[in-house]
Amino acid sequence: MFKKVLIANRGEIAVRVSQALQEMGIVALAVYSDADRKALHVMRADEAVPLPGTAPGETYLNQARLIAIAKKAGVDAVHPGYGFLSENAAFARACREAGLVFIGPQPEVIEAMGDKILAKARLAEAGVPVVPGWKGDTSDLAALKKAAAKIGYPVLLKAAAGGGGKGMRIVRSEEKLAEALAAATREATGAFGDGRIFVEKYIDRPRHIEFQIFGDKHGNCVQLFERECSIQRRYQKIIEESPSPALTPALRTAMGKAALAAARALNYEGAGTVEFMLAPNGHFYFLEVNTRLQVEHPVTELVLGLDLVRAQILVAAGEPLPFDQKSVRQRGHAIECRIYAEDPAHFFLPSTGRLAQFSTPRGAHVRVDVGVRRGSEVSVHYDPMLAKLVVWGGDREEARQRMAWALRRFAVLGVTTNIEFLARVVEHPAFIAGDLHTHFLEEHSLDLSAPERLEAAVAIAAGLAAAGPGGEARAAAAAAGAGTGPWQNGQRWRNS
Ligand code: ADP
Ligand code: ADP
Ligand code: MG
Repeated sequence: MFKKVLIANRGEIAVRVSQALQEMGIVALAVYSDADRKALHVMRADEAVPLPGTAPGETYLNQARLIAIAKKAGVDAVHPGYGFLSENAAFARACREAGLVFIGPQPEVIEAMGDKILAKARLAEAGVPVVPGWKGDTSDLAALKKAAAKIGYPVLLKAAAGGGGKGMRIVRSEEKLAEALAAATREATGAFGDGRIFVEKYIDRPRHIEFQIFGDKHGNCVQLFERECSIQRRYQKIIEESPSPALTPALRTAMGKAALAAARALNYEGAGTVEFMLAPNGHFYFLEVNTRLQVEHPVTELVLGLDLVRAQILVAAGEPLPFDQKSVRQRGHAIECRIYAEDPAHFFLPSTGRLAQFSTPRGAHVRVDVGVRRGSEVSVHYDPMLAKLVVWGGDREEARQRMAWALRRFAVLGVTTNIEFLARVVEHPAFIAGDLHTHFLEEHSLDLSAPERLEAAVAIAAGLAAAGPGGEARAAAAAAGAGTGPWQNGQRWRNS
């Protein structure tokens, strides 16, 4: 087994990986930028090495420096977390060449799946249903128009190198095609340095349903069931759950088979996710494969009783998978809410500042994966996700009620957060009914908008916090309680 592992990441995922390593008796080596000198992930690691600079390019994305640090520190392996270098085939190769194990799938697989055009072609070959589309040369506008007409409007323009919801444009009619193509190309070139665009059928009101896959170096492959991630803003997930309320046993079996076929076709090693869209008519289509640990992996861990990070480490070290298809069974229900420093009332724009208060809920079946603590500075440099709140329940309604409870007890002062907004979502009748789709937040935006500003309550809480011992807990309760006002006054979710 490895003796020391470098975690090439920051925030909650670096903390999460440290824990798994330490449990296994492996030394966790953190890296940190100038802005992260006092970050939680540094405190929680066994050792830490600075990455001079602040911008991601000079720090957490600096491949040469990370490898030099790893070699100097004598580590055996590198865990990339998610985001940053986790889906970078060049980095995976560079690790290999430096004699380090990259904790992730083979570079060839990362590369093949990083190109959405190639990925679709490869999985279609393996018999996985893909969205009808066209991957011809988009510089030939006449050919593109013909292809779009054949697919049928609305169509979606997507970046071949896309990720994080960037480079996508919905086109509802032929007149808008040229303009949308120019915009998508510009965005893709800027974000990925690769302007290649393809077109596919735009599925209306789809649900995002993904399957966790896992493989080892001994040819074992499993699918670890689904997560539904239909609650999204800007094509990015904010609430995820498992099992999906939309899946019948027959549909789960069919989608699970497709996911496993994908894993087998790729000879997949390590953790990955096969993303699908489920159309209202019950047809499902492959979207992409994420060749890494997913932000939302905890919902799978809670429902299956597994530790996916531990499994990643074991598999990377050459051990066989610690579970097999027959032994994994879904039990109960889990929901995750991503807690962001952002303002739902202003286009979910990130919010920055020092966390004057950060107190997280505690209780049976409540898990909080955190990347910050009180006093932490939330800056413009990195992703504004502060924590993930994950709950388990015997069934969906139990988990949902527990989530509503836990959100009301999550108190953050110093930055604007989406906590109240999340509470309004999980209390919304359509969410309660499990009636989800990827435009849920837009469709229900009126119901979900904030009833009033809570400055007064926040000021009271801040005053209490300043009042000394015991005041802090009362302040947290007051701040959290204030957030519940609109629901507890019998109005529950509507601002009227
Ligand atoms: P998924 O949500 O399906 O896992 P995404 O591509 O949306 O896939 O997840 C990666 C997201 O996490 C990106 O938005 C990226 O900016 C962000 N991210 C990367 N590293 C971190 C980190 N250490 N902490 C929080 N967020 C991060
Ligand atoms: P990314 O790499 O940015 O995550 P994905 O291909 O996974 O890109 O798509 C992200 C989200 O965009 C999906 O979860 C879904 O909400 C939406 N989306 C993607 N393709 C389509 C489509 N053909 N029709 C409708 N929505 C789509
Ligand atoms: Mg995706």
